[in-house]
Amino acid sequence: MRVSEIFASVQGEGPSLGVPAVFLRLAQCNLSCLWCDTKYAWSVGEDVPVDRVVEEILTLLRTYSKIKLVVITGGEPLLQRDDVRELIVRLKEKIEYVEVEVETNCTIDPSSVLEVVDRLIVSPKLANSGMPEDLRKCSTRFKDLPDSMKSKVYLKFVIEDARDLSEVEEIVRFFGVSSSSVFLMPQASSIEELTERLKVVVDLAMKTGFRVSDRLQVAGGFR
Ligand code: SF4
Repeated sequence: MRVSEIFASVQGEGPSLGVPAVFLRLAQCNLSCLWCDTKYAWSVGEDVPVDRVVEEILTLLRTYSKIKLVVITGGEPLLQRDDVRELIVRLKEKIEYVEVEVETNCTIDPSSVLEVVDRLIVSPKLANSGMPEDLRKCSTRFKDLPDSMKSKVYLKFVIEDARDLSEVEEIVRFFGVSSSSVFLMPQASSIEELTERLKVVVDLAMKTGFRVSDRLQVAGGFR
């Protein structure tokens, strides 16, 4: 699989915010969002056999023996969904307590990975990403998911201002998930932007019942 980096840190966003984790960042993406904070992963990567990736993750999990979460992120991990599925299955064979969450931009059929993952963090891109609508629209496979799959899905939206809300609500209706599975997160690459846009996000959350996600990696300056 095409790998950008493997490292241990703390999940900075979304439903597992604050949880220590081993991160596998896969290279390549099918989008090129204006404010992407991992542009280096679009092209920089190394081809690594799945077995070796599993071993590198296990080495980190042994080094940090209290970590129980593995996050597969990108880039867009589902561009390599067959390898991602195989990796999750092999990891869970080796360490049964490990939980795996995969992050995706919503554009690719998630079915095979949803069967084996614990959480799928779906971050549909809004107009503020600068991507044309036809490129960023969600895979139709996300509609009418059975409850057993839907319960694994969390939505995470990057918000610039209050005008983003109508797009968010349309996508939430498409997914049919409850507001407790929806996170609004400020678009921010600096502490100043984070502080300013958190106020917008908090205001929208109070009006909608959606949840707020901070971005610890921006606030703390870590990856
Ligand atoms: S989908 Fe994610 S990784 Fe890809 S360009 Fe957009 S923000 Fe970056």
